Amino acid sequence: MLPDIENLLKLQDVDKEIRRLRDEIAELPKRVAVIEQKLAGTKAQLEKAQAAVKADEASRRKYETNISDLRGKISKYRDQSLDVKTNDQYKALLHEIQFAEKEIGTNEDKILELMVNADSRDKEVKAAQAELKAETTEIEKEKEQARQRTAEDENLLAEAKANRDQLRGGVREDLLRQYERVSKFRGSGIAEVRDQKCMGCMVMLRPQTYNEVRSGKDVVICDSCQRVLYFNPKEELVERRETVHRPKRHHPKIDAPQAWYYRAEFAADGEVFLCLTNSGGQASRRVYDIHTGRLLGDILIREGNYREGFPEDITGSTRLNGNWSEEELDGFGDELPMVVLDSLNADLDAARHEAATGSHAKHEAPAASSPAAS
Ligand SMILES: [Zn+2]
Repeated sequence: MLPDIENLLKLQDVDKEIRRLRDEIAELPKRVAVIEQKLAGTKAQLEKAQAAVKADEASRRKYETNISDLRGKISKYRDQSLDVKTNDQYKALLHEIQFAEKEIGTNEDKILELMVNADSRDKEVKAAQAELKAETTEIEKEKEQARQRTAEDENLLAEAKANRDQLRGGVREDLLRQYERVSKFRGSGIAEVRDQKCMGCMVMLRPQTYNEVRSGKDVVICDSCQRVLYFNPKEELVERRETVHRPKRHHPKIDAPQAWYYRAEFAADGEVFLCLTNSGGQASRRVYDIHTGRLLGDILIREGNYREGFPEDITGSTRLNGNWSEEELDGFGDELPMVVLDSLNADLDAARHEAATGSHAKHEAPAASSPAAS
């Protein structure tokens, strides 16, 4: 895997962590606000209950004043009754006194009613006070927790940001711009390729693009979602090992007119597949990149059969299964089709497995004219 890609993957993890921390930091005050709202409700309830108590007290004072005024009147009427001249005047004063006494009774009833109510008013106030106290304790606890959590998150965020800056320094500038631009719009800027699909947008890649990603030599961008693509060979290997039952490998004939080989090193090209063919007394050699399937260099023609013509290419190479007609080979042109490339890679994988388990390990030696060399 390219170091740029490895760094981008780490950067993606850090970016995700930064987003999570920012969301959490933004969420904490909202939680506190909800509890504070509840607290304000309880406070309003308490104030209402206390206002009711005050209003009752004012009413009581008013009734008491009424009573004392009425008593004053009665005493005045009584004094006047001593000086009246006529029976009618006396009756009128008596009537006033009776009326005032009745009024006193009414006011006294009202005071009694208030005294009865005062008990439940008192209970309301006490309940609201207790609730407010409990809620205040709770909110202080919540606020403290939120404060601590925020402080922790801020520290983690600062660490993550420092980490991010360092990782950004390890990624090519144009690639970093691409990653950040796509991240901004799509939430992620890099996607794995699996089963020839971009796992970011689930769109199938063109075979050539897929090969390029698999080769891991250059950075490839998804045509449909613009994410930077990467391929994890470990994933594929694990998948293959777990899911594919390995059938017994077929072995190619030593004297076949066409032979495919794998070489780990070929000039400056690294890993290649070689296709050697015999035709009309001449041998030809084609060289393909094993990841992209691209034809490397020209088709080489030499006199004689390929064992005589290209002994240096055969020595130390791994023989593979593969047989396509001369017309098909010409039809492949500059690039092996996916199915051919996959078939060769699968056989290479099987050959390696065979070598690793010791069931049929061998490298071919050039055998100019004796096919008994196996
Ligand atoms: Zn995509």
